[in-house]
Amino acid sequence: MVAGDFYDLLGVSRSADEKEIKKAYRNLARKYHPDVSKDEKAEEKFKEINEAYDTLSDPQKRAQYDQLGHENFKNASKGTYGGGGYGGGFHADFSGFGDIFDFASDIFGGGRRQAGPQRGADLLMRLEITLKEAARGVDRDLDLMHYEACRKCDGTGSENKKTTKCPKCGGSGQIRQATHTPFGNFVRQMVCDHCSGVGSIPEMQCSACKGKGTERVKRTNTVHIPAGVETGSRLRLEGYGEAGDQGARNGDLYLEFIVKPDPVFTRVGDNLEIKETISPAQAVLGTTIVITTIDEKKLDLKVPAGIQPGKKLRVAGEGIKRRGRPGDLLVQIIVLIPDKITDELKELYEQIANLEGTKTKSQKNTSKSTPNKRKKGIMETILGD
Ligand SMILES: [Zn+2]
Ligand SMILES: [Zn+2]
Repeated sequence: MVAGDFYDLLGVSRSADEKEIKKAYRNLARKYHPDVSKDEKAEEKFKEINEAYDTLSDPQKRAQYDQLGHENFKNASKGTYGGGGYGGGFHADFSGFGDIFDFASDIFGGGRRQAGPQRGADLLMRLEITLKEAARGVDRDLDLMHYEACRKCDGTGSENKKTTKCPKCGGSGQIRQATHTPFGNFVRQMVCDHCSGVGSIPEMQCSACKGKGTERVKRTNTVHIPAGVETGSRLRLEGYGEAGDQGARNGDLYLEFIVKPDPVFTRVGDNLEIKETISPAQAVLGTTIVITTIDEKKLDLKVPAGIQPGKKLRVAGEGIKRRGRPGDLLVQIIVLIPDKITDELKELYEQIANLEGTKTKSQKNTSKSTPNKRKKGIMETILGD
């Protein structure tokens, strides 16, 4: 285990740009270059600096590093699976947001069966998260079963860790099968069924894994769910699917998210919407209300005088916190008309009506000639609204 965060190692902040990283790397590389430095640990340090720079100078690797954290990233690049040359460690596919959201489905349902050891099947796991978690992003600890090289036989499948050349295919992993037909003889190349295409077989079958070379272990992984996931979004955890044949990589595990609806916030794209209620007087005169964002932050929101019912006010950046371009929070203003008021308020509303020159129900109807037709018309307008 190598301690030390790459940012700390280079002595830069997590928000450092390419230039800063390059500069820091150059200074340190000069200082710890094994040809120059007299420090005993210079060589080791120089290696670490190079590794840190290699990761942080590559935007794709850096994004992955930021998402996974130091430990997971290191484990991911180490790899645990022998033979196949693939990292069996955990790493999610974060190379870009497109990879998470635009999922190509050709991975499921088999695909072409190629010659040689077969990689393990992919698995799908559904995970429910709240809208709050989807809006902000969240880290989830998940206990996942992982196929790793059998500890007893080091993944060889052999009790004494020795394997011998497969007698059936002579080590090539392929066998030829001739078919005689009226049109001629056809030779088909097939995966050797004796060694599953590996080319070698265990000398003595391992008693722990029955010769498979893998064992199933439970691993707790902290999975970073980035802000912006939607129901149906998928995240790939490489190597967490079914075990592959010996010498082939594991399948992947796909996490599919189900975002639970929220009682207060409604999601519209990357924006969030809430409703806030004010009184008619507040609507007419303007006011300041306190709203609560999805981060549970309290904010003062100015409602301008003369706002119309149903109007939406925008609070920039308080929507879905998607990297680079967060959405906004839209606050819809509902003007609540009181259905019960005190005598005092009633008097005031009557005064307002008088000043407006509008008629109200409680005012004495001075003109006796109001036609019935018109009254009916007004009623309909209200009902139909
Ligand atoms: Zn064979
Ligand atoms: Zn074994």
